[in-house]
Amino acid sequence: MSDITGITRGGTPWTPEFAVALDAKKCIGCGRCYKVCTRDVLELIDRSEDDLPEDDDDDDSESISSVMSLADPMDCTGCGACSRVCPKACFTHSAMPLAA
Ligand code: SF4
Ligand code: SF4
Repeated sequence: MSDITGITRGGTPWTPEFAVALDAKKCIGCGRCYKVCTRDVLELIDRSEDDLPEDDDDDDSESISSVMSLADPMDCTGCGACSRVCPKACFTHSAMPLAA
């Protein structure tokens, strides 16, 4: 399957980078990604004991009891905004769409 490419208003081609994974062990539950995502991709959920942050002694640990999840990854447009605001580099992106 080839990469899906888009085009800007000005006619410049670009390749969406879909959010395909979120590392729960890095996530501090800050909600920054949720605030910038324009789709219904992300959802804050209760954290399981298996997903406790690796560095939970950080001062910026804002909501250790919660963790962000890719609740509806098929709604992702690949804009990349979530990664630009994430302070913990939790997201993995791919130009390839997830298999249906
Ligand atoms: S890449 Fe864009 S649409 Fe996809 S989860 Fe991140 S902010 Fe939402
Ligand atoms: S911005 Fe990063 S650390 Fe904050 S909730 Fe989203 S994935 Fe977790």
